Amino acid sequence: MADHDSTDTAPHGAPETPLARRGLMFILSSPSGAGKTTIAKKLLQSDAGLAMSVSATTRPIRPGEQDGRDYHFVDKPTFDRMAEDHEFLEWAHVFGNSYGTPKAQIWAGLKAGTDFLFDIDWQGTQQLSQRAREDVVPVFILPPSIDELRRRLTARGTDDAAVIEARMDRARAEISHWSDYDYVVVNDDIDRCYEQVRRILDAERLRRERQTGLVSFVRQLTGDGSPT
Ligand code: 5GP
Repeated sequence: MADHDSTDTAPHGAPETPLARRGLMFILSSPSGAGKTTIAKKLLQSDAGLAMSVSATTRPIRPGEQDGRDYHFVDKPTFDRMAEDHEFLEWAHVFGNSYGTPKAQIWAGLKAGTDFLFDIDWQGTQQLSQRAREDVVPVFILPPSIDELRRRLTARGTDDAAVIEARMDRARAEISHWSDYDYVVVNDDIDRCYEQVRRILDAERLRRERQTGLVSFVRQLTGDGSPT
């Protein structure tokens, strides 16, 4: 992982604090239909210090999606070439397609204090945790019930019945990884779930080891070696 040093870099991630801070990787995982996308959108809209990590995928673009915003939509040979050239922080086969997190910008952004939001599955979370455990904040969102999950997947109307059944199977498999996550939130009310996720992010930003400017700040407070 990248080094944790104390720099004079202005923090992008928390404009309300004068202290330099290392960014974090805020991972939201859930079975499809548990509300993760809505929560991710609300977080991004309300927080200028949070940037989306846009994955590359080989899956076809869906109505309403935009290349470069929702995903970088690439063909299989391009994805395989990127994987071979080590351009991904992590990648996995999900649901018959390949998905990966491009490395570019993430390390530099973290060092400059930018927080990144990741919408990735348990496989990607495991890989990122192995690479950079201290930077990773893994959050799992559970649906309130399996019936409600099916209802939400059906109401979305973007997928046919066979795809929905396959997603239900995958949802059960995804849910089985809940215990790999530091935080688990049940989404029985989208506003409450959002508030809970928001508080996790706020608290994690205050972790001592992320606040790289603390040493010089406290030195200045105590008059220990710094001019006042
Ligand atoms: P969807 O096709 O519905 O957008 O995403 C399907 C699944 O792939 C979701 O669980 C999503 O979290 C996961 N996913 C999206 N991007 C990535 C990625 O870059 N890496 C990994 N490991 N999973 C991803």
